[in-house]
Amino acid sequence: MDMDLLTLELKLAFRETGCPICRLRHKAAQRYIHSILWENVNDADTRVYLVRALGFCHIHAWQFQKMEEAVWADGLGTGIIYEDLTGRALAGLESYVEEQEKRVSRRRAQSGWWRRWVARFSTWWGQWFPRPITHSYQKLPSGLIPQARCRVCEMSELSEISYLSWLVRGCAEAEFRQWYQASDGLCLPHLRRALAMAEEEEPEAALFLARTSHDKVARLRADLQEYVRKHAWEFRDEPKLPGEQSSWVRAVAFFAGEWPEVAEHERPANS
Ligand SMILES: [Zn+2]
Ligand SMILES: [Zn+2]
Repeated sequence: MDMDLLTLELKLAFRETGCPICRLRHKAAQRYIHSILWENVNDADTRVYLVRALGFCHIHAWQFQKMEEAVWADGLGTGIIYEDLTGRALAGLESYVEEQEKRVSRRRAQSGWWRRWVARFSTWWGQWFPRPITHSYQKLPSGLIPQARCRVCEMSELSEISYLSWLVRGCAEAEFRQWYQASDGLCLPHLRRALAMAEEEEPEAALFLARTSHDKVARLRADLQEYVRKHAWEFRDEPKLPGEQSSWVRAVAFFAGEWPEVAEHERPANS
């Protein structure tokens, strides 16, 4: 990706609410979903990915559906993809039913007293030594279990790495640091990754990011303390400041990363 474009995108993301890398990652995911809907539903390579992953992960499957509904007011792309996938799920179920029928008839063929004795012994044994519940997903046929990761996750992670490494490198410039300081800063999952990237090669960037985050977390904690305090009966009439009102949502966003819809529906600003 063009470096000037990366800087510009980062600069614009710094002006928006929430973690800039979460925002850019979610935008990259949306761009990719849009491109599939726009031209790649019938593209052979894209279909291979979709078949192997059985569509998308939970979040991206619903973003895909919602984007088609919102932009095209239709569901043809979703319908085409899932018509194919239902065929594969059906084949998987048929092969599973066939295998299971064989297993059941083998069990029935065993003599009655022996089976009853084994069942009674298993119940007795299970009382003292309960077996952990395990799920042997790997034994399921391919139409029932994904053989690959969600392609939107993979593509947006590639963008995320580019943005994050460019952000780390940008921290060497005073002007870039000012832009970053004026932003809401990185969420904790992205801060961890940025520190891991910066520690060896760019120790000053790691120090800058850690210090900036320290100040932001200190402000967040003070807002949370006031938010909680003002819920007490004796302080209930004290007005809550905007930063305090949004503190509990900002805290979730800091520890978990932004919710994907932050790009479409703004959450409250810091102050
Ligand atoms: Zn983030
Ligand atoms: Zn995904």
